[in-house]
Amino acid sequence: MRTDDYTRAAARATRSVLQHALPARVYSRPPHCVIFASGNAVRTTLRKGKISQLAPYAMRVEESQGRRYPEPAHPYRNDYERDRDRIIHARAFRRLENKTQVFTRRYSDHFRNRLTHTLEVAQISRTVAKALRLNVDLVEALALVHDVGHPPGGHSGEAELDRLMRPYHDIFDHNLHALRIVETFEQKYAAFPGLNLTFEVREGIIKHSRDYHAADYPELLEYRLDERPPLEAQLIDVADEIAYNCADLDDGFEARLLSLPVLRSSLPLFDRLYRAVDGKYPQAIEKLKFNETLKLLLNMLVTDLIESTRHRLAEQRVRSLAQVRALRSRLVSHGTRMLKEEQKLKRFLFEHLYSHQNLNAERHRLTACIRDLFAYFLKRPQSLPAYYLLQSQKEPLNRVVCDYIAGMTDPYLQGQHRKLLGD
Ligand code: MG
Repeated sequence: MRTDDYTRAAARATRSVLQHALPARVYSRPPHCVIFASGNAVRTTLRKGKISQLAPYAMRVEESQGRRYPEPAHPYRNDYERDRDRIIHARAFRRLENKTQVFTRRYSDHFRNRLTHTLEVAQISRTVAKALRLNVDLVEALALVHDVGHPPGGHSGEAELDRLMRPYHDIFDHNLHALRIVETFEQKYAAFPGLNLTFEVREGIIKHSRDYHAADYPELLEYRLDERPPLEAQLIDVADEIAYNCADLDDGFEARLLSLPVLRSSLPLFDRLYRAVDGKYPQAIEKLKFNETLKLLLNMLVTDLIESTRHRLAEQRVRSLAQVRALRSRLVSHGTRMLKEEQKLKRFLFEHLYSHQNLNAERHRLTACIRDLFAYFLKRPQSLPAYYLLQSQKEPLNRVVCDYIAGMTDPYLQGQHRKLLGD
């Protein structure tokens, strides 16, 4: 067999193997170098993410700033895939199942909790990342980790812990707490503390929803505080908002705290979409019309986010990650009209759902538990678990108590309150 014939035959064989081994979307557009590559080269190319045809402004895994403790490469998972898998296997991730999103378990056991919310954020984030040709592996890791720092009791729990820390000239912030979890509290590996995540995942944990200034947070200096985070991190916050706005409408309606007449009269966009659904399915029951309307709304929000971001990238001629980082403002955002609609939606949810008396009562019970246990452990540090008691020799007691309570699930917080304080 001549060399050319041999090469062609090898290429056919490799193509056949790839066709069966790779997902259709990956196989459909492979660069030629992959088709002609050897098995090892194919694995290397997959690991480095080159096959995914990332946009020039996407974060490439081969350009990662790496891990705090260097580790050998994995044969078939790239570093961001490994980070995603480490997060899924973390205790803090599993505890999300018993942390309140808006409705507590006491109210109903089929509404969103922080774990199902996280999965919805990951699903929306992947869709947006794929459409913008961003690094889907990094986005998935960031979405899955974005809420692990939340304490029990939802946002009220976070506000209460922060309030309790202020007299000690300290704060509680769920992003900073998430960083402490993945850097310190997760103890799974013999070779290093924490999960040893890549720089970009750690950077995204703290910067996905806000900027931190070096003057106020000198301990975060390594995270390039004067730069914007990669687009993969920027999109998490908006995907988070889309997920919880739609989910809260859904759960609020299901819980009968939000009625269709109020929704339609308060939210003109919702009303327009509902009328379209009603025209198409006049015989459908109200709940199914509501579901179809919500589906249209979610689709509209995601589509607007993709198109507005794409437009902004083109308008500002963004060609590289360096440009993304150097810009003064973030690029991933809704367009002006949808931003106004989203603000109306948030205002509506705040006025009609988040401040509803039924939810307030439960919220007050949880924040009271946090307040009581914080005082209890400050007075009786010997009641802390051994790990935290040891930590109190290295850090102020208020910080250690705050960390311990922040890691609790809602039922564990209430159980501890019953056990230690008798109600
Ligand atoms: Mg969230």
